[in-house]
Amino acid sequence: MLDADGAPLARAAYSPTSQIRARVWTFDAAQSVDAAFIARRIATATDARASMLDERHNAARLVHGESDGLPGVIADRYGDVIVVALTSAGAEFFRTDIVAALAALPGVRCVYERSDAEVRSLEGLPPRTGVAHGRLPHEVTMLEDALTYLVDPVGGQKTGFYLDQRDNRRLVRTLAAGRRVLNVFCYTGGFTLAALAGGASEVVSIDSSDEALAQARANVSRNAELDATRNTWIGADAFTELRQLRNAAASFDLIVLDPPKFAPTAAHAERASRAYKDINLLALKLLAPGGILVTFSCSGGVSAELFQKILAGAALDANACAQIVQRLTASADHPVALEFPEGEYLKGFVLRKR
Ligand code: SAH
Repeated sequence: MLDADGAPLARAAYSPTSQIRARVWTFDAAQSVDAAFIARRIATATDARASMLDERHNAARLVHGESDGLPGVIADRYGDVIVVALTSAGAEFFRTDIVAALAALPGVRCVYERSDAEVRSLEGLPPRTGVAHGRLPHEVTMLEDALTYLVDPVGGQKTGFYLDQRDNRRLVRTLAAGRRVLNVFCYTGGFTLAALAGGASEVVSIDSSDEALAQARANVSRNAELDATRNTWIGADAFTELRQLRNAAASFDLIVLDPPKFAPTAAHAERASRAYKDINLLALKLLAPGGILVTFSCSGGVSAELFQKILAGAALDANACAQIVQRLTASADHPVALEFPEGEYLKGFVLRKR
């Protein structure tokens, strides 16, 4: 890339079919982007996560794309397996070097590729999935806060697990004691296990995916210390089920709402706003006085400011008074580079109903 005077500005990967024509890999135009560069960037990113891995945790996002100086490269570690997703033309170009650098990390048995995200088509890239290094174990498990989760890198959503909610699952664990918990959009039961481990008196979890719920059940069984008798799974559309619970005058003390991305871009913001308002309104109605709502939006097209306004509208229409007690983001292994504020996709609020 050249500046207005024709002097080199940065080194970027060119993607002729994408709306984002060039993604900058280094602002030092004299630096060459090669295998050694890739290995250094991956080492820097991995070192920064070292303190997040210990005997209670063996999973973390090792590489978080642009924010780690590796545009379009995602690498999630689940024990001795790394799942990599390449979503930009530049990442695709350096695929062999990226896989080699990840495979060389201590204790890595397998690098599995899940380059099948929708965004790849915008870069003119076909999907690619499969083992890129080593052998995929018959069963992949990971440890988060000393809880064991099964991860399905092959058929699971994204790379298999939503690591970005790690700190927020820990928060729910600390809030759950003695509470009746409703976990909506539960996927493989991340917040469910956290709530059970935190001593919830009852947990009801909803998801529309049968595969996710089958794995969620297996996840509870895997952790013998959890009291599965306190737990109920509901396979249903969340919008319908929340209405049914409201009609049945159900009541909960702690509700988690972690829906999928309703607005991938700002163009979808209006429709998404209605969906967010709908579920939050219903959740506020289902919440007992003094109850806590932990609510998220992972939509790039909905800012934290807009999300807060949506919540205010939901509370008004639910005839509920609520206060913000905490603001939440993705965990520290999902950093946001200051020059890349678009990277801050996950925003959450802890609300208390008065
Ligand atoms: N909280 C989870 C991640 C949630 S991802 C965790 O910590 O791991 C969003 C989930 O919403 C997915 O599992 C998806 O299957 C589910 N989902 C999407 N649309 C839904 C709907 N209309 N009703 C219920 N679940 C839905």
